[in-house]
Amino acid sequence: MATADTVARLRSTLGAGGVLTGADAGPFSHDWPHEIAWTPLCVARPADRDGVVEVLRIAREDRVPVVPVGGNTGLSGGTKGEGAIMLSLERMNRIRDIRHDARTMTVEAGVVLQTIREAAAAHDLVFPLTFGAQGSARIGGCLATNAGGSNVVRYGSARALCLGIEVVLASGEVLDLMSSVRKDNTGYDLRDLFIGSEGTLGVITAAVLRLFPRPETYATAMVAAPDLAAALTILNRLQSGTGGQVEAFEYMPRNYIEAWKAHRPETGEPFAQPYDVNLLVEIGASAGADADARLEDLLAAMMDEGLVLDATFARSEAQRRAMWARREAAGELTVLRPHVLLNDVSLPLENVAGFVARILPALREIDPGVDDFLMSHLGDGNVHYNIWPSRGDPALHERLRARMEDLVAEMGGSFSAEHGIGVSKLGAMARRKDQVALDVMRRIRAALDPDGLLNPGKTVPEA
Ligand SMILES: Cc1cc2nc3c(=O)[nH]c(=O)nc-3n(C[C@H](O)[C@H](O)[C@H](O)COP(=O)(O)OP(=O)(O)OC[C@H]3O[C@@H](n4cnc5c(N)ncnc54)[C@H](O)[C@@H]3O)c2cc1C
Repeated sequence: MATADTVARLRSTLGAGGVLTGADAGPFSHDWPHEIAWTPLCVARPADRDGVVEVLRIAREDRVPVVPVGGNTGLSGGTKGEGAIMLSLERMNRIRDIRHDARTMTVEAGVVLQTIREAAAAHDLVFPLTFGAQGSARIGGCLATNAGGSNVVRYGSARALCLGIEVVLASGEVLDLMSSVRKDNTGYDLRDLFIGSEGTLGVITAAVLRLFPRPETYATAMVAAPDLAAALTILNRLQSGTGGQVEAFEYMPRNYIEAWKAHRPETGEPFAQPYDVNLLVEIGASAGADADARLEDLLAAMMDEGLVLDATFARSEAQRRAMWARREAAGELTVLRPHVLLNDVSLPLENVAGFVARILPALREIDPGVDDFLMSHLGDGNVHYNIWPSRGDPALHERLRARMEDLVAEMGGSFSAEHGIGVSKLGAMARRKDQVALDVMRRIRAALDPDGLLNPGKTVPEA
C-alpha cells in the first residue's frame, strides 16, 4: 500500500530532485488535451537505468502502481495515474552515440524527439519520425505508443525505425535487446512486443534507432483536388513519378482551413480561392535531382486531366515551414471546442474517401448536432476523425464512437492507427479486437507483471 513512507524511500534512493510531489507534480496530473485529470502519489525521476530498477523495487514492495511517462503528449489517456508513481524518464536524456556509417543512433528513453532529429541532421542524416508534439514527446513514449506522424508513408511508424531496445520489467530484470543489426531471427520478436505496449509490459529505458540519408532537397506544395478519390490518384501518380519519394501527403478539409484562419487571422487561404480538399505534399529527393521541377511537371500534367485544381509551391524554407505550421496546428485546433472525441482510425487507402463521405451522416442519425473535425495522414490511410458531439453526455459519446467503429470495421479499417488505446479506446478494444488476441495479451501481461503493477487499467480491457 502507498504510504508517505513510499515517497520518503523514493527520495532517499533518487535524491531530493528525483521526486516531485504536490504542485510540482502538476504537469503530470492531466493529459495533454486537459480532458482527464488525476492525483499521482508522486513523480519519480530516475537519472539512469539502475534508478528505474530501484523505483520498480520500491513499487513492488509497497504494492503501488507505476505509470511510465515521457513527454505526456499522448492522446489516449495512457498516462492517467491516480495514486500511482509516475515514472518520468525525463532525466534519462543522453544520446549515447551516433554511428554515421552504420546509420544508427543509441539514445536513452527520455531524449526529446526533436533533439534526436536535430542530432541526426547535424550528421547529415534523418530520423524521420515527425509530428506536431515532437518538441515535447520523448522517444520512450514514441516507442511505447508506436507513434506515426507525417512521414510514415515513406519510412513507416516508430516500430520500423527501431533496431534495438532496453526494457526494465516489473520484476526489476533488465531485458537487453540493444542490437543494431537489421536482421535477427533469434526466436520471438520481443522488441516488437514492447513497442506499442503503452507501458503495460515494461519500462523502455534505451533504444537503438535507424537513421536514413537526408534528402538533398524537399519540394513542398499545397495542392487542391476535386475530391478524395482524385487525391488518391494524385498520391499514386506522385509515388510512381518519383520512385517512391513522397515524404508526406496530408489532407486538410475546408473546416480545418477555416479553423486555422480563425485561430491565426494573420494567415490566409492556401490558394487564391477556397477549396474543399487541401493537400500538403512533400517530395524528398537526392542530390542533383530537381525535385521542384519534377513535382511541378507531375502536378501540371494532372491539372490538365482535372485531377489537380490548383497548386502553390514553397519557394523558400520559410514558406515550407508556414505550410507545415498549418498542418501541425492540428492538436491545438482540435481542442478548441469542449467534449472532443479524439479518434485516429486507419483504412485501406481506397476506402478513405468512402469513409469520409459516409461517417458524418451516420453520426447525425444519433446526434443531429454533431460536427466533425478531421485531418489525415492520407498517404498511409490514417484519418484523425475527431468528433465534436452536441453535448457532454458520456452515453451519447460512447454511441457515437461505436457507430464510427462500425463503419471503420465495415470498411476494413482499424480503430487505432497511431495513438494507441490508453483508457480512451478500452471500449473499442473490448468490442472490436479479436477475443483470442485479447486473451493472449492478458496472458502475456500476467506472465510479465503478475501483480498488475505497470500502468494498470490501460490498453487491454479486463476479461
Ligand atoms: C499536438 C500533438 C500532435 C500529435 N501528433 C501525433 C501524430 O501525428 N502521430 C502520433 O503517432 N502521435 C501524435 N501525437 C500523440 C503523441 O505525441 C505520441 O503518442 C507520442 O509518441 C507520445 O510520446 P510521449 O513521450 O509524450 O508519451 P507519453 O504521453 O508520456 O506516454 C504515452 C504512453 O506511453 C507510455 N510510456 C511513455 N514512456 C514510456 C517508457 N519509457 N516506457 C514504457 N512506456 C512508456 C505511457 O505510460 C503512456 O501509456 C500528438 C500529440 C499532440 C499533443
